[in-house]
Amino acid sequence: MAKESSSTNPTSVAYKKAVLKLGLKKNIGRALEIPDRELTVEVPFRRDNGEIDSVIGYRVQHNNTRGPFKGGIRYHQHVDIEEVRSLATLMTWKTALLDIPYGGGKGGIAVNPSNYSKTELERMSRRFFRGIDPIIGVNIDIPAPDVNTNAQVMSWFMDEYSQIHGYSPAIVTGKPIELGGSEGREAATGKGTAIITRETAEKWGIELNNAEVVIQGFGNVGSYAAKFLDEYGCKIIAVSDVSGGLYDPNGLDIKSLFEYNSKNRTIDGFKQGKKITNQELLALKCDFLIPAALGSAINKSNVNSIKCKAIIEAANGPVTGYAADSLWSRKIAIIPDILTNAGGVTVSYFEWVQNLQQFKWTEDDVNMKLEDKMVKSFDEVFSIKQKNKVPMRIASFMVAIDRVANAYNLREG
Ligand code: NAD
Repeated sequence: MAKESSSTNPTSVAYKKAVLKLGLKKNIGRALEIPDRELTVEVPFRRDNGEIDSVIGYRVQHNNTRGPFKGGIRYHQHVDIEEVRSLATLMTWKTALLDIPYGGGKGGIAVNPSNYSKTELERMSRRFFRGIDPIIGVNIDIPAPDVNTNAQVMSWFMDEYSQIHGYSPAIVTGKPIELGGSEGREAATGKGTAIITRETAEKWGIELNNAEVVIQGFGNVGSYAAKFLDEYGCKIIAVSDVSGGLYDPNGLDIKSLFEYNSKNRTIDGFKQGKKITNQELLALKCDFLIPAALGSAINKSNVNSIKCKAIIEAANGPVTGYAADSLWSRKIAIIPDILTNAGGVTVSYFEWVQNLQQFKWTEDDVNMKLEDKMVKSFDEVFSIKQKNKVPMRIASFMVAIDRVANAYNLREG
């Protein structure tokens, strides 16, 4: 993948442009960039062979002007303080954009979880949660799953916290349904992505029925986005995962593929479609291209081959800053990650509300409220885009930063 300088990081570029457009005072713009608190913890834990091992964990609390810090915890060998800080910052803007009463935070452990057994991961997770215990709380900071963490890890976190503080399901979201998880959470990010694609079709004058859609990544987000877009009547002509892509210009049978992938955890071996590479998939002519796998998937090296009408950023940061500028000049719309994939944190918020109320909502309740939030946020961003003649990403940051800056001024003034 082409290396592009950090000065083209789409988030920091968008932040700076939006601050300028808003005419925000320099001191406020600067204050909102600096994280409130950063914690690094050493996490000792016993291996199955009896030896003591030790890893490094982080929790960054970027901003809590509008509510408790909120954001996932990832386990990955590339986790470091810069990455966690930048993801925590993104959460502040994402929660503000969706007008959820949360701030932004993120955490992680620099570890490759596949090197450890389940019992080792459990001891490590519990010890990490004890390490960050002094700065988290049901109304202070609420973690969630992220890369390589899941409902099981959240159950360990919740149990560890509850042993110290008493039964506290609201301390984490993304829990199993049996422990207070929300109906609709698993599908939420893909559903949100499908809603945003539908709204984009309407505003960009693209017929949704039979619209040609290409999706990179068929994991949680990509597979559910495909399922709901198929239900909207779109024609999903190609999808891919790490094993490669499948292409059928007449449309793939998404119901069967969804089932096949749920069972086999891969699309490889599915009966329909011509095999193509991920690079060939990204270059297909289509109405909507939905990158739902990796950061920087569309970059300097392949941006000229892109032939869609709009890119719907389901993954975090799938289009580099350089590629975004090039696409903007070719009038290819990009609907940014902080809007497109915000369905996940929105339903996480619903989970927290249900835990605090000790009252369970039905899946229909959740989906109705999710639909409402996504459409309202899309409309707000679109109207700022039209008014200021800026790309959707800058408009999204303008809405989000304005919301946080107003709250900040009210509290500090
Ligand atoms: P996942 O692990 O469930 O799925 C990832 C998919 O991408 C898999 O199909 C995998 O095979 C595929 N993939 C991996 N490497 C690839 C490669 N080199 N080329 C093509 N495909 C590749 O992950 P997910 O939860 O679906 O998340 C996908 C993206 O969405 C990530 O960027 C994540 O940060 C973002 N996101 C997820 C959520 C959520 O709720 N799950 C919320 C917000 C953002």
